[in-house]
Amino acid sequence: MKLMYLGTAAAEGVPAVFCQCSNCREAMRRGGKDIRFRSGALVNDHILIDFSPDLYAAKLRFQLDLGDVRSVLVTHAHMDHFNREDIGMFIPPYAHVDHPGTLTLYGSSFTEKVWNEYTGEQLLKEPEVTKAVTFRTLAPFETLDVEELRVTALKAVHSCPESLFYLLEQDGSTFLYANDTGVFPEETWDYLKEHVTRPLTVVSLDSTMGRLKNRYNGHMSFEQNIEVRERMLRDGIADETTRFICHHFSHNGIILYDELTEMMKPHGFDVAYDGLTVTL
Ligand SMILES: [Zn+2]
Ligand SMILES: [Zn+2]
Ligand SMILES: [Zn+2]
Repeated sequence: MKLMYLGTAAAEGVPAVFCQCSNCREAMRRGGKDIRFRSGALVNDHILIDFSPDLYAAKLRFQLDLGDVRSVLVTHAHMDHFNREDIGMFIPPYAHVDHPGTLTLYGSSFTEKVWNEYTGEQLLKEPEVTKAVTFRTLAPFETLDVEELRVTALKAVHSCPESLFYLLEQDGSTFLYANDTGVFPEETWDYLKEHVTRPLTVVSLDSTMGRLKNRYNGHMSFEQNIEVRERMLRDGIADETTRFICHHFSHNGIILYDELTEMMKPHGFDVAYDGLTVTL
């Protein structure tokens, strides 16, 4: 499996769209790994996780060919993860692809409702899209095959109803892609404890709250990332070979890439950046 981070910021981006804070100014000055698009990932070059409003920018930045994308795993319906208006660009005459086919969106019943609301609106740019795009509803803890991946939807704690995050498996390797969640609900811990029989290969955790000390639990802070790692090690869900990655950053809690890497390395975490590709 190969997973490429296309964006690693929270909804406002880093630097944030209207912001003049010192973190945003310094991120802009440094550029490179400190410029972060809204979050999303590309698996095996053709399966998307989330439909970021910066997907098009990521295509240009990383010279991506997205013409073979047929599956999108949507975590939840917040605009930085489900930019439903852009999905209409999948069909002709907006796209001419080598192997025409349909696109399947996977997500919660709430995300499906948000999609159906849009396709029922007069604002819908292209009504034909409803013929080419289907929605497959996922219940929490449901496992299914999405092309070459085995995918399990896990229950998140987040401010959007029915938010999910995903466990991906292929050829014995596992990638837990967990953003827009606080410290997992107990049902999710129970599921992982029972079903993860070999330590996970890669675990990517939400780090939106960053250095902030409050214990809001709809995103995670670095402190909570460390606690989740420790619990996973204790429960045998991960071991010392598991690669942990911090992901989904806000300008409010962030420190810049170099300092963050220095801070989190001793705690066993790598720091995601746009374009980071993990092969497992
Ligand atoms: Zn988000
Ligand atoms: Zn800022
Ligand atoms: Zn969200």
